[in-house]
Amino acid sequence: MATIVEYTDARAPQNAYPARIVSPSHSGPCCFTQMEDVGPVTRDGRWEYRYRRCRRCGFAVRVIVRGVPDPALAVSGGGNGNGYHR
Ligand SMILES: [Zn+2]
Repeated sequence: MATIVEYTDARAPQNAYPARIVSPSHSGPCCFTQMEDVGPVTRDGRWEYRYRRCRRCGFAVRVIVRGVPDPALAVSGGGNGNGYHR
């Protein structure tokens, strides 16, 4: 799946979600406390993800919110939980 985040230090950070997010190439100390959600959770195949962006420096990342269970696996155990043992 493609990301809309473009990492560059040649241009100023820009939040043009959902088309594009221009992010610095590296995160800073501010990013630990200044990250905020950008846009809704998006489903792509078996993953749900969303973008987060530092409101201070503009550093952006795509974070996986959760994996979506494969429907084929979910029904293979007859609904008694088989198939989820690790
Ligand atoms: Zn930051």
